[in-house]
Amino acid sequence: MFSKIKDVFGKITGASVVDEKLIKEIIKDIQRVLISSDVNIKLVQELSNEIKKEALSQKLPPGISRKEHLTKVVYDNLIKILGGEKYSPKIEPHKILLVGLYGSGKTTTAGKLAKFYSKRGLKPALVTTDTWRPAAYEQLKQIGQQININVYGNPSEKNALKILKQSLKQIKNANLIIVDSAGRDSLNSTLIEEIKKIKQELKPEEIFLVISSDIGQTAIKQAKEFNEAVGLTGVIATKADASGKAGGALSACYIAKVPVAFIGTGEKLNDFEVFHAKKFIGKLLGVPDIGSLIEKMKEAVEEADFNPEDLMKGDYDLNAFYKQLEATKKMGSMKKILEMMGLGAAVKSGLAEQSEEKMKKYKNIMDSMTKYEKQHPDEIKSSRVKRIAKGSGTIEKEVKEMLKQFEAGKKMIKKFKKGKLKNMNSLMRKFQSGGFKL
Ligand code: GDP
Ligand code: MG
Repeated sequence: MFSKIKDVFGKITGASVVDEKLIKEIIKDIQRVLISSDVNIKLVQELSNEIKKEALSQKLPPGISRKEHLTKVVYDNLIKILGGEKYSPKIEPHKILLVGLYGSGKTTTAGKLAKFYSKRGLKPALVTTDTWRPAAYEQLKQIGQQININVYGNPSEKNALKILKQSLKQIKNANLIIVDSAGRDSLNSTLIEEIKKIKQELKPEEIFLVISSDIGQTAIKQAKEFNEAVGLTGVIATKADASGKAGGALSACYIAKVPVAFIGTGEKLNDFEVFHAKKFIGKLLGVPDIGSLIEKMKEAVEEADFNPEDLMKGDYDLNAFYKQLEATKKMGSMKKILEMMGLGAAVKSGLAEQSEEKMKKYKNIMDSMTKYEKQHPDEIKSSRVKRIAKGSGTIEKEVKEMLKQFEAGKKMIKKFKKGKLKNMNSLMRKFQSGGFKL
């Protein structure tokens, strides 16, 4: 759904300079993605203006580059329109009423909620007051059986309120009551009346409107209407997995000022989670949180004392080679960063897990070399290889392997110097895929 957002971030990471032209381009890309996800046009405009204003602001926080700043500005603004706050599920006895239109996913969600809370120690009971949908009771009964939760209702009774009263009397040993109510094609007065009566009888702590994400920004109207009619504590957006419009639906709830509490991400009862805008965006990007990602990237590069520009200046010798390996290893330990930087192939190849052991060996090998050898590794003859292996407690094959990798690294840097590779990303990418099988 938001998979294109990932491309936008990739574009920022891959850019050589952040200028007005890039910012404009990024904003255009984001607009395209959001509009195709059915996000409200006014909201898209607001977001664009905000990004533009913040990205061009002259004052950068200390230690932050313009590129990092732009990434953060875009990220923060996306989170904002998805509703920044995280919902806290009540892990205490309570009652939940689910409302919503036909087919929005209420019955499935009732089962998902029961499973969610029983995993967290509550004892749920499921009640259906749906007298409209044929076999509504059987459907919920089946779901209840899957998760060992009692289901209450009365398929032969036509009055929803009566069913609720009967069920509440029957329920034993439960401290969480989840009521799955009937839907309609639209919110009409009979539906409002029915929900109001149920609400009065049940006195639920939570009233969740269940919407299907594929309704996109129509969710604004639905959330507003239901909220005015019966008072909502939150929205549960289902089918976030199957819809290209989830961004639209989620941001619609932000406009309607009804927080999204949970999202459904599939048909199975486990496909359900508390909605957390930061986590949601992070997942789309394949990283948990961009703020900490930027921090980690900085640390990795600083710790490894690695600056690609240095490689260009001096002669490329074994010392430089080793530094480069170390940096790759540090960055490699953060698979998500590599993926984020478009280095997914390196992660898949297992290269991201360069072993500590191998690095130690290389260090020992280098320690057994003379200064001259380290500066001119290509002049190392077989007899010297033998001596170096002996001195470092390795075998000749390992010494040769290191020298081979060095050659590959050197070739790459040469190419880089010729300007064939443009920036650090592609440098790292080339480096990672340059046959360095550690
Ligand atoms: P209700 O009429 O509101 O009670 O809706 P149901 O719970 O019967 O669900 C309608 C359809 O949507 C069923 O086929 C469900 O399997 C499907 N469904 C519900 N939630 C999700 C979800 O999060 N993802 C997907 N892919 N399908 C869902
Ligand atoms: Mg139903």
